[in-house]
Amino acid sequence: MLSEFDLIKQYFVQNYASDPRFALGIGDDCALINPSKGMQLAISTDMLVSGRHFFPDADPVGLGHKCLAVNLSDLAAMGAKPLAFTLALSLPEANPTWLAGFSQGLLALAQEHNCRLIGGDTTKGPLNICITIFGELPPETALRRDAAQVGDDIWISGSLGDARLALACYWQEVTLSAEQHELAAKRMHQPTPRIKLGIALRGVAHAALDISDGLIGDLGHILECSKVGASILVDSLPAGLVLRQQVQEKRREYTLAGGDDYELCFTAPLCQREAVLAAALASDTSVTRIGTIEAEAGLRLLDINNKPINMQLRSFDHFTTP
Ligand code: ADP
Ligand code: MG
Repeated sequence: MLSEFDLIKQYFVQNYASDPRFALGIGDDCALINPSKGMQLAISTDMLVSGRHFFPDADPVGLGHKCLAVNLSDLAAMGAKPLAFTLALSLPEANPTWLAGFSQGLLALAQEHNCRLIGGDTTKGPLNICITIFGELPPETALRRDAAQVGDDIWISGSLGDARLALACYWQEVTLSAEQHELAAKRMHQPTPRIKLGIALRGVAHAALDISDGLIGDLGHILECSKVGASILVDSLPAGLVLRQQVQEKRREYTLAGGDDYELCFTAPLCQREAVLAAALASDTSVTRIGTIEAEAGLRLLDINNKPINMQLRSFDHFTTP
C-alpha cells in the first residue's frame, strides 16, 4: 500500500536540473521562490470538485491536464508568464493507475509551460483538486478587468461553444456523430490556455479575462469593473468547429452562454487593431472582433442587421444555477 509520502515522491516529485527561479521545491515546510528582479507575482487558485466540475470516472490523464489548464488560463488572462504551482489533492484512495495518469497529464502540461510543481498537500477524502498558480509580469502591464475604455473593440480568441455542445450531447439534449462528439469533447476536456497570446497582448489590450462561465456573464464582469457597457454582434461570434454545423439558435445560445471555453475575451483601442492581429499571429492563435465598448451601461446583443436580439440567457453560477 502506498503511504502519503511514497505517493508524493512517486508521482509528484520531479528531478529538475537546477532552476534559478527556485531555491527550494517539494519536501520542506515551504517552497522558496526567487522572484525575478522588478517583476510582480500574479497568483490565482482554482478548485475542481468531482461530480461538480468533472465526472467521477473522468479519464485521469485529461483531468490532470484540465486542472492545470484552467489555472494557466487565469495567468493568460492577466498577461502573466507561468512560474510555479502548488497542488492540494483530496483522494478517496491511493489508486496507482489513477495517480499515474493524473500526474502524467498534469506534469506534461506543466513542462510545456515551464511551470514547476513546488508543493502541495495530500489528504484522504472525496476527490477534489485545488491548484494555486504563480506567474510573473512587469508592473503596470497586467490586463485587468477594470481597464476597458469607451470605444474599445471587444475581441475573442479561438472559438466558443464546443465544450458546451459536448456536455449537451452527454446529457442527450443534442445528437452528434461519434466523430463530432469526440472533437467537441476534446474542447471540453483539454482546453488550451492562451498563455502566449496573453503575454503578446501586454501593452496592446486594455482589459481581459478568460471565459469559464459563458461569454455574456464573463464579459459582464469587465463591464461592471470598468463601469461601461457594450454591444456585441451575436452572429459574428466564432463558434467552435462542431457547433458551427448546428442551427442558429444553438449557435447563439452556446457561444453566448456556453461555459468551459477558456478563451480570452479582451478589449483594445481601435489604434491597436494591427497590433492585436500581430499578437495573434505571433502566438499562433486566431482572434475575432465581436463588438464595441460603449458608455451606456448594459450589454446589447445585436443581429447581423444591427437589430437587438431578445434572448433570455444566463451564465453559470454555482449557487444560483439549478
Ligand atoms: P506539511 O506537514 O507541511 O503539511 P506535508 O507533509 O503535507 O507537509 O508535505 C510534505 C511535502 O510534500 C511538502 O513540501 C509539500 O509541499 C509536498 N506535497 C504534499 N502533497 C503534495 C502534492 N500533492 N503535490 C506536490 N507536493 C506535495
Ligand atoms: Mg500536509
